[in-house]
Amino acid sequence: MMFYLSTRGDPARKRFCDILLEGLAPDGGLYLPEHYPQITPEQLAKWRGLPYADLAFEILSLYIDDIPADRLRAICRKTYTAEVFGTKAIVPLKKLEEGVFLEALSNGPTLAFKDMAMQLLGNLFEYELGRRGEELNILGATSGDTGSAAEYAMKGKKGVRVFMTSPHGRMSPFQQAQMFSLQEANIHNLAVEGVFDDCQDIVKAVSNDLEFKRKYKIGTINSINWARLLAQVVYYFAGYFQATSGRVHATPEKVSFTVPSGNFGNICAGHVARMMGLPIDQLVLATNENDVLDEFFRTGVYRVRGSADTYETSSPSMDISKASNFERFVFDLVRRDGATVKRLFSEELRTKGRFALASDAKFGFVSGRSTHADRIATIRDTFERFEVVIDPHTADGLKVAREYLRPDVRMIVLETALPIKFAATIREALGREPNRPTKLLGLESLPRRVQVLPADVQAVKAYIAAHVA
Ligand SMILES: *Cc1c(COP(=O)(O)O)cnc(C)c1O
Repeated sequence: MMFYLSTRGDPARKRFCDILLEGLAPDGGLYLPEHYPQITPEQLAKWRGLPYADLAFEILSLYIDDIPADRLRAICRKTYTAEVFGTKAIVPLKKLEEGVFLEALSNGPTLAFKDMAMQLLGNLFEYELGRRGEELNILGATSGDTGSAAEYAMKGKKGVRVFMTSPHGRMSPFQQAQMFSLQEANIHNLAVEGVFDDCQDIVKAVSNDLEFKRKYKIGTINSINWARLLAQVVYYFAGYFQATSGRVHATPEKVSFTVPSGNFGNICAGHVARMMGLPIDQLVLATNENDVLDEFFRTGVYRVRGSADTYETSSPSMDISKASNFERFVFDLVRRDGATVKRLFSEELRTKGRFALASDAKFGFVSGRSTHADRIATIRDTFERFEVVIDPHTADGLKVAREYLRPDVRMIVLETALPIKFAATIREALGREPNRPTKLLGLESLPRRVQVLPADVQAVKAYIAAHVA
């Protein structure tokens, strides 16, 4: 049986379905499996060539043994379809130049890689809530990508409502159109007259009102959810299979991945894949000007930033001041010593805003940083040389990937969004509009469902109370 534990040393052990709907562990830690199942070269050879949904099932079933196997397989097949993700390959690899590939993770409904996990989460939530006969009201705050991915994953799902706050008038026209055009009754867009921080403060205040939270079954779906991370492990395997030939070598062929990173969720899935035995050479972490993580991998010092030191950049989904998934990696780094993690995260970080770890053991991670000028130059260069338009986050990745190319090791750069989501930066780089997928033509002229509310906790509570039957 697979059990899950907290990174901060709590002795409790839980099953997958228990942690699925939970956020943090009660001691403030993050959940991780008790061990990483090991993949043999024979198993790896057998998985090569599986359709994506079946590969997902094989990997998920190593971690999820409290959902019947046939149900889990059905959930995977319902999630990863060509209709939803655009191609039969789901995450097709595109060769840019000799040894450098882009893995397309952004052809889901909201055009960013978050769909890869969120779409699965929607189906897992529906299954588990149905089994329990319970309901869940997801309350969130978004400045763009996460909120739309959550809404498109949960729309029409039984037992789930989404109340998504966003700063009124501050998201890009495309993002507003994407979210507000949803007509499903279980999706509620709340445009708050304030900034993103106001939205986050409101969500926090509601979540801290335990009585309200219990009465209205309030939950969240943030990036620390283990199921989201697990879903992301699958595309590392799928990328590996596409980049390697499958010929039998004395030592398995290795590939490297570069990951545009913010909250450390995406690349943490790569870490898990490698811990399972996927032959990964380097995991290359790319940041933008918000370089908390690059600093750690260069110096061994993890120093979180205040909001005054968090920059608004042209790769906004990587604008973070602390990386919420990083604790999982540190847990493995300190050989799964929960007491040490607890000291680092709940004492040192809280009192000093930083901690330092010996800089030798980093599990083969390297890192680099990219700036606005780098993004523009990389988008331009990639278009001129390959006629491929990449989004600003992917450009951060490609820029840093080039610093770590090794002869004979293929490099896969994860494409985390499509350029249409960040049209202003594409115009600046290329002087032209990015292409728009045909399914999204006319998006901005669709009718909208959105409620404008003052930046006031009571107003949001009253709205929720009135809409929870
Ligand atoms: C969320 C996001 C990222 C950062 O991913 P993490 O898992 O938080 O590291 C990068 N690029 C895009 C486009 C995103 O939406």
